[in-house]
Amino acid sequence: MVMKDAELRHLHRCVELAAEALEAGDEPFGSVLAGADGTALAEERNRVASGDRTRHPEFELARWAAAHLTPGERAAATVYTSGEHCPMCAAAHAWVGLGRIVYVASSEQLGTWLTEWGVPAPPVRTLPVGEVAPGVTVEGPVPELTDEVRALHHRLHGGRA
Ligand code: ZN
Repeated sequence: MVMKDAELRHLHRCVELAAEALEAGDEPFGSVLAGADGTALAEERNRVASGDRTRHPEFELARWAAAHLTPGERAAATVYTSGEHCPMCAAAHAWVGLGRIVYVASSEQLGTWLTEWGVPAPPVRTLPVGEVAPGVTVEGPVPELTDEVRALHHRLHGGRA
């Protein structure tokens, strides 16, 4: 998939946010919400170290969008993210009427890595966004950045990248 420079910049920022999350003791996920003109409107990173396992960036951005954007603005917005939305976040994304999703690494890729590293399965199944929110346009993975995301997750699970 060929990404435009502006879109790659947002995805780079997502990976940066994921790295910040890992440094802070959270899980390496980061997301950017951009408006119809491509301007970044909000960004978030994973904050599950608080003990609240629902503190995923995509969920926070869905809530932010519901509070700050009109339905039309939400539909025209794009959420860039380091890892494909989990089912909870895909549902939140669709319930608030957000538009396109662009992810660096797919849930399938993450699942494959975790299995490879012997990490126990999470309590929620990893489903592609399309199975949870069939109306949402989804693009990814983005091979230019996938290795960086893989390395962050490898560090989280005790690997040296
Ligand atoms: Zn999630």
